[in-house]
Amino acid sequence: MVEVIELTQRQEQILQIVKEEGPITGEQIADRLSLTRATLRPDLAILTMAGFLEARPRVGYFYTGKTGMQLLGEHIRKMRVNDYKAHPIVIQESSSVFDAISTLFLEDVGTLYVVNQKGYLSGVISRKDLLRAAMGKHSLEDVAVHIIMTRMPNIVMCSIEETLFEAARKLISYQIDSLPVVKEHQADGRVMYEVVGRITKTTITRAFVELGENQDI
Ligand code: ADP
Repeated sequence: MVEVIELTQRQEQILQIVKEEGPITGEQIADRLSLTRATLRPDLAILTMAGFLEARPRVGYFYTGKTGMQLLGEHIRKMRVNDYKAHPIVIQESSSVFDAISTLFLEDVGTLYVVNQKGYLSGVISRKDLLRAAMGKHSLEDVAVHIIMTRMPNIVMCSIEETLFEAARKLISYQIDSLPVVKEHQADGRVMYEVVGRITKTTITRAFVELGENQDI
């Protein structure tokens, strides 16, 4: 993960010099500050990694002109589902609504993923799905979750390679609380999905808080 960093006074000075005189070599920047090239190396590395400066071999450092907001946007769009996904809670298609409600409490989650006998994703059950079922006339033990779940192919999913930003957009545009993170498999001549994680509104909130704690640009 790329860290968003707080600039030191010396890093600010370097930025100012490159802004005014770039392209400029590390040696020349060191001269301006009466420091050695070796002393500056970590600062130049940080400024380059954070995206404020660009280093071109045999030419020197350029000021990228990117604002803190642009860099923050770039940082957000680099965050990957794989680094933020939580453990998925799954139940079998044949489980009862009663079991599903118990699992919801035991695991302290709002959404369950339903898998078929081979362990591949077949549906999603949310709190409201279960409340609706509980309002019906049938006993909660007698109704299997596959009767009331939202089923494939209508499940909105994401992959580990996707960005957290894309996943957050799906949550908003489909007005759902949670996305199963899946890996594709070929089974019986069809594409099936193994559930390897979950991204929820809590995941996004946690990432947001982390950003707020880290970000000082
Ligand atoms: P709640 O029902 O508690 O408000 P959601 O907003 O997540 O929770 O669910 C709304 C409806 O969308 C439910 O019927 C649920 O089955 C369905 N749903 C939830 N997550 C998904 C998903 N990832 N893909 C497709 N449908 C979903």
